[in-house]
Amino acid sequence: MQRDKFFKEVENVLHPNETLVKTHCAYCGMQCGMNLRVNVATNKIIGVEPRYDWPVTVGKMCPKGVTAYQQTNHDDRILTPLIRDDASLKGTKEGFREASWDEAYDLIAKKFSELQKNMEKIHYPFSAAYQ
Ligand code: SF4
Repeated sequence: MQRDKFFKEVENVLHPNETLVKTHCAYCGMQCGMNLRVNVATNKIIGVEPRYDWPVTVGKMCPKGVTAYQQTNHDDRILTPLIRDDASLKGTKEGFREASWDEAYDLIAKKFSELQKNMEKIHYPFSAAYQ
């Protein structure tokens, strides 16, 4: 199966304390193939290397993709949803407050519903051509 061929985890023969996880960079539309180097003891990503078996980019990656893994374990990484609203303005970090995932998803659904309702009132120039 193609997924097995392209995304399986493999032993790192050069560094036995590491596993290589075959994946691709998701930072932009090129989706360059890369192997994540994962420390077996800590289960943390410690680096990346390009994938020469990736048919589209064949071992090429840009500097942004090569360093993107550093976000994963960064101290400033945001791990919970942040919402800016009236309550958040009362003394929380930069006007945001932490929220649960349920609250965040509910808010997103509510905002999309509001947008859909408002979209019915908006007439776009291109829509006039078809009416
Ligand atoms: S390595 Fe660079 S060019 Fe490739 S997908 Fe990542 S960001 Fe895009």
